[in-house]
Amino acid sequence: MGIFSGLLDILFPPRCVFCHKFLKSGRKKTCSHCETALPFTENGGGKHGDFFSLCVSPLYYEGDVRESLLRFKFKEATGYSEVYGKLLAQCIRENLSNRYDLISWVPLSSRRLKERGYDQAMLLAMSTALELDDVAVSTLEKIVDTEKQSQIASAEKRRANISGAYSAVDGELIHGKRILLIDDIVTTGSTLSECARTLLAAGASEVLCATIARTRD
Ligand SMILES: [Zn+2]
Repeated sequence: MGIFSGLLDILFPPRCVFCHKFLKSGRKKTCSHCETALPFTENGGGKHGDFFSLCVSPLYYEGDVRESLLRFKFKEATGYSEVYGKLLAQCIRENLSNRYDLISWVPLSSRRLKERGYDQAMLLAMSTALELDDVAVSTLEKIVDTEKQSQIASAEKRRANISGAYSAVDGELIHGKRILLIDDIVTTGSTLSECARTLLAAGASEVLCATIARTRD
């Protein structure tokens, strides 16, 4: 350990990405309790959507997983993407191996990106791709700044809110490809479905999805 990182550990003792408790020395990013006690899904917890074939997620969106993702999304805990990327890559290897041609993500609108300063799904896609010896490429942009999906309760209203909000950025890149779309959370699946619909309309042959966490139906 270098002097600088040693000093940082004293000033800001590392905490577990999930339960946020201080880590015992020698542990990196997650505590031994969370490693086994997190709400892991079985076989990727596959979810189906109107326009995507399958969405896999290693974790359920509840308890410490939810708190962790909220810090990642809203409290600038961007370093979490490394741990998330490892988990997501493992889930993709186990459940979607050889089923996609390129990795992409669900983008933020430019206004939301300016507010937050980072695109959490892009960070997640990049760290996941890195784990898979691949790269993540941009295939979509969000052209309408919609109301936050998390503030809309009904599935029907979520679908209406997000309809037409995305546009494909590179038809040539997408054409005939099986695209693996990455996002942080899947709830009703309406955002992923709208992104998948946009990609299929732009010539993609299939869309699969992977998120860190999913809600229980
Ligand atoms: Zn923990």
